[in-house]
Amino acid sequence: MSGEIIIRTEAVTRRFGGFTALKNVSVGFEKGKLTSIIGPNGAGKSTFFNILSGAFPPSEGRVVFGDADITGLKPHVYPRIGISKSFQITNIFPAFTVLENVRIALQAHCSRFNFWSPRSRLGLEDKAHSLLQMVGLERHAARLAKELAHGQQRALEIAVALAGDPKLLLMDEPTAGMSPEETSAMMDLIVRLVADRTVILVEHKMKMVMGISDRLVVLHHGEFLAAGTPDEIRNNDEVKRVYLGQ
Ligand code: ADP
Ligand code: MG
Repeated sequence: MSGEIIIRTEAVTRRFGGFTALKNVSVGFEKGKLTSIIGPNGAGKSTFFNILSGAFPPSEGRVVFGDADITGLKPHVYPRIGISKSFQITNIFPAFTVLENVRIALQAHCSRFNFWSPRSRLGLEDKAHSLLQMVGLERHAARLAKELAHGQQRALEIAVALAGDPKLLLMDEPTAGMSPEETSAMMDLIVRLVADRTVILVEHKMKMVMGISDRLVVLHHGEFLAAGTPDEIRNNDEVKRVYLGQ
C-alpha cells in the first residue's frame, strides 16, 4: 500500500454479550480509492462497517480518521467531519419527490442556508439537480420516492448521502436485492463516485467487486484474513479456501 491513509482501525474488537463478532482487526484504507470489505456471511463485515461509520463503538481498539481519534464519536457527528454512509435499508422519505429528498438532505447540511433568500434557494436547487444527475435520477426528479424501482431508490439514497459532500462514503451491500441490470448500474455509479472521494464498500459477493475495487480486505470469522489488490486476493490460497464452493 503506497498512498495516504484516510481512515484506519487499530486492534478493533467487538463483542455482543459473550460472542466476539470482530477480533483484533487493524486495517488502513487508502485515500481516493475504492476498497471493498469482503467475506462470507457472518464474517463480521456489517459489524466492522458499523464501527467505521460510528453506529456503535468497538469494545476494544481505536478508529483513526486522518490524524484524529474518532473512537466512540456519536453517529450524528460523522457527517460533519466528512463521513457519510448509505444504509442497507433505504433511508429516504417515500412520500416526498426525488428532488425534495435531495433538497432536504442539502438543507440539513447547509448551516448558512437562508430560507428567505431566492439566491440561496436557487443554489440549493442547482446542487440538488447536479446530485441527481450524478446518480442518474435527473429524469425522475418530480416523481415520488416510493414510486421508484428498488435500484433507483438505492441511487437516491446515495444522492442523499452525498449531500454533505463527504470525503469518505461507506456503503453496506449497495446491490442487495437488485436485479443484474440494477447491479451493473450501481457498480458504474460507485466507480464514478470514486473520482472525487474515498469509498469503502461492504459486499459478500466477491466476484462483483473484483472488477471495480482498487483494494480488497477479507474478513473471516471476525478476523482479518488478507488485504491486497484484486489480483493478489484472487491468488491468495487462504482466501480461495474460505470462498470454496461459493
Ligand atoms: P456479515 O455482515 O459479515 O454477514 P455481521 O457483522 O453481521 O456479519 O455478523 C458477524 C457475527 O456477529 C454473526 O455471527 C452475527 O450473528 C453476530 N452479530 C452481529 N450483530 C450482532 C448483535 N447485535 N448481537 C449479537 N450478535 C451479533
Ligand atoms: Mg452484513
